[in-house]
Amino acid sequence: MVKVTTADGLSGWGEGGQYGPPEPVSACIRHVLAPRLIGRDIGHPGAVWEDLYAFSRDFGQNGTYIEAMSAVDIALWDIFGKMLGQPIATLIGGFHRETVKAYATGCYYGEDYDNQTLLLQRLASEAETYADAGFDILKMKIGLLPIKKDAERIAVVRKAVGDDLGLLVDANHAYSSSGAIRIGRALEQHGVQWFEEPVVPEDRDGYRRVRDALDIPIAGGECEFTRFGFLDLFRGECLDIAQPDLCVCGGLSEWSRIQSLAMSFGVLTIPHVWGSGIAMAAALQAIATIPPTPFTINPVPLQNEPVVEFDRKPNPLRDDLLEHNFVLENGSVRVPTAPGLGVTISEAVLAQYAKPEAN
Ligand code: MG
Repeated sequence: MVKVTTADGLSGWGEGGQYGPPEPVSACIRHVLAPRLIGRDIGHPGAVWEDLYAFSRDFGQNGTYIEAMSAVDIALWDIFGKMLGQPIATLIGGFHRETVKAYATGCYYGEDYDNQTLLLQRLASEAETYADAGFDILKMKIGLLPIKKDAERIAVVRKAVGDDLGLLVDANHAYSSSGAIRIGRALEQHGVQWFEEPVVPEDRDGYRRVRDALDIPIAGGECEFTRFGFLDLFRGECLDIAQPDLCVCGGLSEWSRIQSLAMSFGVLTIPHVWGSGIAMAAALQAIATIPPTPFTINPVPLQNEPVVEFDRKPNPLRDDLLEHNFVLENGSVRVPTAPGLGVTISEAVLAQYAKPEAN
């Protein structure tokens, strides 16, 4: 997480990187990007992005540098919004919606991989808790067990939640394309509404093979960077649903460009959300601005209307960091309309988890 403070005393928060260690991102911000921000006018986050990208192009087109730029960019938009007294969504295109249908991410494997009976019992009761909590959509993990056993898990969850609840699966790129197609047959039988990261992100041909073979929308992109990475995915006809992560893909500035690109390929953008309450706030500002894709007068979540990921694993940096936490209302989450990201960070909570910088 990064806090940017202006000479006028305004401050904004950003977050960068979701999967790897924080130290490289932190070092990149501290030693490379931050010195280039000193003296900049705060009112031009998109121009700052292009300058930082041009500066780091020869060594940082992907990975840590783009994650660091994501954090800085989100913080600059937060400040810019506060400066103008407007939520970021207003500044990057305007609101198409003020509430977003949320999907629960849950039904992880936990322990006892080898005890399929116990696994299935626990899975059924967990899945029921999401339906009882008011979620209309659930995303579960697949890919860590033999295909036959994972197919049983999907069947158990479908039975537990009934036919009306939207069911999504995420393989975290666990399959070869042939394996993904094999389990995809079971997913089709159980009415699964998207298949996320079926194969490794760099296997563009594999994505296309899976997408050609199955009738389920293919989602991916959570570890892809910049408009250029997504252009490659779109040209490769890899995706039905693009999932840029605001804290990975290049922040809000680059996200807007990815979203425009996705629309021009007929792809619905549904940002991936992980990490802290800052990541969630940034994603909600972005999602508020996505037009129904394709446009209809009565958009349907998942079909042409974006939804938001609401992971249900315990996470104090998501659940306690914000002074007003996000809550589920009628299966949806409200987009903050206060200036900037629209959230207030508890620095006392952050201090409990922050690691002192060793320099
Ligand atoms: Mg995922």
